[in-house]
Order: sequence, then structure tokens, then C-alpha cells
Amino acid sequence: MELINDARPDTRPFLPSEARGTKPDAPGAQKAALPRLENRFAELSPPFYSDVVATPLPDPYLIAVSEDTSRLLGLEPAALASQQWTEALCGNTRLPGSRPLAAVYSGHQFGVWAGQLGDGRALLLGDLATAGGRFELQLKGAGRTPYSRMGDGRAVLRSSIREYLCSEAMAALGIPTTRALALVGSDFAVLRESVETAAVVTRVAESFVRFGSFEHWYAAKDVDRLRILADYVISTSYAHLAQRADRYAALLAEITQRSATLVARWQAVGFCHGVLNTDNMSVIGLTLDYGPFGFLERFDLGFVCNHSDSEGRYAFAAQPGVVHWNLYCLAQALLPLIDSVDDAKAALAGFESAYEDAILLAMRAKLGLQNANETDAALIDSLYGLLEANHPDHTTFFRQLSKISRSDRENDAAITDHMIDREATSAWLDTYRERLKEESRSDELRRLAMDAVNPKYILRNYLAETAIRHAQARDYTEIARLAAVLSRPFDEQPESASYAEPAPEWALGLEVSCSS
Ligand code: AMP
Ligand code: MG
Repeated sequence: MELINDARPDTRPFLPSEARGTKPDAPGAQKAALPRLENRFAELSPPFYSDVVATPLPDPYLIAVSEDTSRLLGLEPAALASQQWTEALCGNTRLPGSRPLAAVYSGHQFGVWAGQLGDGRALLLGDLATAGGRFELQLKGAGRTPYSRMGDGRAVLRSSIREYLCSEAMAALGIPTTRALALVGSDFAVLRESVETAAVVTRVAESFVRFGSFEHWYAAKDVDRLRILADYVISTSYAHLAQRADRYAALLAEITQRSATLVARWQAVGFCHGVLNTDNMSVIGLTLDYGPFGFLERFDLGFVCNHSDSEGRYAFAAQPGVVHWNLYCLAQALLPLIDSVDDAKAALAGFESAYEDAILLAMRAKLGLQNANETDAALIDSLYGLLEANHPDHTTFFRQLSKISRSDRENDAAITDHMIDREATSAWLDTYRERLKEESRSDELRRLAMDAVNPKYILRNYLAETAIRHAQARDYTEIARLAAVLSRPFDEQPESASYAEPAPEWALGLEVSCSS
């Protein structure tokens, strides 16, 4: 199959915001020089991407800024409130030095080869050198690109709020993820199932290269470009491998490790990605492309967060297997460079042990166990059986578990009250208690350690929906409030305790699908 990219750069004229009448800066906004970007990815030649001019977004307004991500980039959050920044964060003006481009990639969607995809609505602006390394800035929803196919290149406010909130929430949970610097809205109408309005999220990551970026050149039988891309990824993200003779196999082995660790972290916190296609898999092990994601609320191994996933391919419990499957696609794509099926298989073989190590590590921490004991895997298995039979709220269950006393049943109601089968729950708690007796830590210290890994606050679907409904009525305060709560997911925050509540009745039928 030939997949040579003959897409032409978008030639629409660049419309500077001055021509459309820039609004004056909000009072109190600090005017600061915009940072200068470099263009590391653009140094690859144009077949890897197309130069694209962002489609102007009429009358943009700033909706949210992440203080954490601003600081990560060495930017003052208050400075981003200027109209100058707003225009830059939706693509109406260019940051100094920026060379906007859309990258090409291909991929397997729902297990089927989909051919060429690419950044259909994302524009890479360039990268920023910071004290913590180089970060790329990308606008999601800044207009059509040569890879937009039938799409309009836009993202709606609803899905942009979800991506903004979840990227930052995942980062606060300590899970590797792309970040969100800002969210800009506009009254510009976008047609989905109904008419909605457009928004742009500025995403930040060390790299946005996907498994599908490699699959693209493999499918095109272009080994030279496959090597150029692999060398680029090694030099930018895996520099310690650069001198190794077996560097491509080593690259696959490291991506395998990072992906296994990532999916273990998802399972431990109850995160369901929703669209684990190979084009949504980061080669540096980040959670990437937030769409119809969802956190487990009522525990259910078969939980499918994406309403469009009718077969449940990306169900919660299927995620580790799917990530492994995706790694096979990546391995296939890297095979011309690795040149040995055995070496590729050896690299992939690291998945199972890396996943098992990572999930055991995470689960021991969730259960407050400091020492490794060979009975732990069985204890965790029986816990999952119990959860599957009782369907408690996942997050509440683990948060409450720290209250169990290791000497008696006095506090057991903290858990049994949330379960249907109290007898089976008590039996499991007794086994757990026996295991706790093998630990030297006091109940009090264990409680502190457990509360530092079992979040109280996660981005429940109804919380996102509430913030979205307020925003659709032009009230953006709920986004800021929710983002603030989720930025400290392990803290008690008594004033925000209602944000830890399970979904109210009105939200039980909420559905999220790919249409965004
Ligand atoms: P996703 O399901 O969001 O990962 O997207 C899959 C592919 O469809 C990617 O190549 C996206 O860039 C593209 N895409 C999704 N939505 C749009 C849109 N509204 N306009 C253009 N391309 C889109
Ligand atoms: Mg995608």
C-alpha cells in the first residue's frame, strides 16, 4: 500500500488580528513580551508535515489558563490574560518564531488499518526551551489542515473543556499526560449533532509523535523516512539510546516499558481512555488525545466510556491488552529498522512483566502495603472479584479503605456500608487485616500514605458536564473552581467535599461519544 503524502500546505491568507480589530487588553492584564518559539519538529522535511496557516477565529475570548502549565513553561499565568495572548492562543496571530504545521500520521482505528490520518485539527506552533526541557505547543481546533478529510478542523467548547480539565487533572494525579495551557472560546458556530460553539485548547508536551507516525512511513514502504523519524525521536526524547548499535530495538523496548507503566497507572486510578487507536498512542508514554474518556465511577470491569464503541473494544479491563496490541503495530512498523523479528519480539516481551510490576506497585500503594509479599497478587485478585460483584464507587472505595483498622473491625462500616454483600466484604477485610499485620507501619501513618495515592477527587463525568453547562451559559467560574479542586486530588478540601460525591440522578444517563 502506497501512502506518500502529497498534501499541499494550506494557502489561505494569514489574517492578522489588527485587520479584525483587536480588543483592548482587560484591565489588570500584564503586558509581557511573548516568548520566542523554536521549530525542532519543522527541521524534519515537509513530507513529515504540512505548513498550515490557522483559520482565524472570530472574536476569541480567554476562558481558562492553567497556572501549573504556565509555570512549567516559565510563563507568568497573569500575563496570559492579555488580548495579545488570546489572539496567539487561537492562532489568529503567531507567537514570535512560530512556524505552524500539521504533522502526518496513519493508524489502526478500532483494530482496523485506517490509512492516512494526521493532524486534522491540531497545529504545532513550535517548541519552547524551558528550565525543565523543551516543550511543544499545539493548538487543537485552529482550523482545517490538509489532513482534515471531511472534518472542519474545529473542536467544540464541550470537548475542549473536557480535554482542558482532564489533562490538568491527570497531571495532578501524577499520571504522564499532555498538558493544557489555556482554553480560548468564540461564539463561532460549529455544527455537530446540534449547533455548538468553537474553542481552542493549547496543548503542551515534550513530543506529540504517535505510534501512527511510524506506521505511516512503514505503510508507505519508506524506510529512509522511518529511520529519520526514529532518529528524531531518539535524539529528542531518548538521547541515552543514541550511541547504541541496537538503538531501534532499544527504542521499542523503552516505549513498551513506558506504555505498560502508563496503562497500569490508568487501571489503578480507574481511567478509561475511550479511543485507544494507534494514532492516539504517544511514543513517550503520555496520555494523549482526550475525547470520550471517562473515570470509573460505579466499579465495572466492562465499563465502556465511549458511546460509539458498541463492541466494547476499549472497555476498562481491556486497556492493558489493547496497549500491548498497539505496541505490536508499532513493532511491525519499526521492523525494517530493527531487522530481526526475534529482537522486536524480545522488546515487546517486556510488556507483561513491566505491566505486572507497575500494577502491583500501584496496587500495593493503594492498599497501603510497604513490603512485597507473594500473597499480594491473590489479595488484589480477590479484591477485584469483590468490587466486580458489588460495584461500589471505585474512588470512594479506595479512599475509604485507609480508615480500616488493622487490629479490629471497628471501622469496617466505612467500607461495608458501600457494598451489597457485606458478608463477603467482611471476609475480604479480615484477610486484608491479616496482611496489614505483617506491616510495621501504624494505622495512622498508613492512612496518610494511602490518602496520598488514592484520590478523593477525580473528574467525574457529571462534574465536567456541570462545568460545560455553565460555560455554555457564559459562566466560566465552574471550570476554574473544578480545575482548582482537581489540582489537589489527594487533599481533603472540606469546603469542596460535594465534588467527591457520586453522580446525582440527573447525570446517570450521560453519554459521551467520538463526536467532538
Ligand atoms: P481523534 O478520534 O480525535 O483521535 O481523531 C482521529 C482523526 O480525525 C485525526 O486525524 C483527527 O485529526 C481527525 N479529526 C477529528 N476531528 C476532526 C475535525 N473536527 N476536523 C478535522 N479533523 C478531525
Ligand atoms: Mg487522535
